[in-house]
Amino acid sequence: MRQAKTIYDCLFDARRKLPSPDAEILTATALGLEKSALYAFPEKPVSNKEAERHKDWLSRRIIGEPFAYIRGETEFWGLNLIVNPGVLVPRPETETLIECALSLIDKDSEVLDLGTGSGAIALALAQETNARITAVDIQPECVDLCTLNADRLGLNVKVNISDWFTNISSSFDLIVSNPPYIATNDPHLTHDGLAFEPLIALEAGVDGLESIRTVVKESPAYLRSGGHLLIEHGHDQREQVTSLFATSGFTKIENTADISGTPRVCSGTKP
Ligand code: GLN
Repeated sequence: MRQAKTIYDCLFDARRKLPSPDAEILTATALGLEKSALYAFPEKPVSNKEAERHKDWLSRRIIGEPFAYIRGETEFWGLNLIVNPGVLVPRPETETLIECALSLIDKDSEVLDLGTGSGAIALALAQETNARITAVDIQPECVDLCTLNADRLGLNVKVNISDWFTNISSSFDLIVSNPPYIATNDPHLTHDGLAFEPLIALEAGVDGLESIRTVVKESPAYLRSGGHLLIEHGHDQREQVTSLFATSGFTKIENTADISGTPRVCSGTKP
């Protein structure tokens, strides 16, 4: 009879094919262990089911599938969120948008998150504030997933289907969005695992600004006077997005860089 695979065998396999930190996290998660257990009990046999899962996860990760999809969950702003290939994997750079939003929200604020996907932004804001938060997305799968994440986390967010503002009839103190902003021909779309993510959440026309243009142009009609718009944008879009804000009449326009120093968020106030 063939000897059962051990924790060491699995880790060894993974480390031959992936960078060490990735190999460790994938192996530990597939085997249902803490990372420290990989080295504490390397000789421990794993079940056939665990070995199979490890093999399957490893083969998917090697071809670039984001670990968040393989595992079915990810962390954002300290929240555990269920994700699937129907939604963008929440990114660390989007936490910059959360920080900006928190500096603008007070307890009576009404906030709208456009294109919520997994609900990452809306749920992080619900976790941190008592604001009344509405999250919308054009895709029914995203509405369902955001609702599921809100229920699991016990957070209160109103979730609706809407193609940007088509289904919105009230006004807000703050509108936030991480819309698609990559240009159709940008080779980035086929790299770094992006090919596994929904194009609808990434791609925005020839200059990557199609969605941002719509949101900036239409937002003033849904903002109260003194209300704010906060938008995440691409690494090279700061100037264009800033001028879109100005053209739409926003004042106090500010730009914020993400943790890697890349211009990432533009904010403005409706006079
Ligand atoms: N920041 C993501 C990336 O460049 C794109 C997210 C988006 O288009 N909203 O991978």
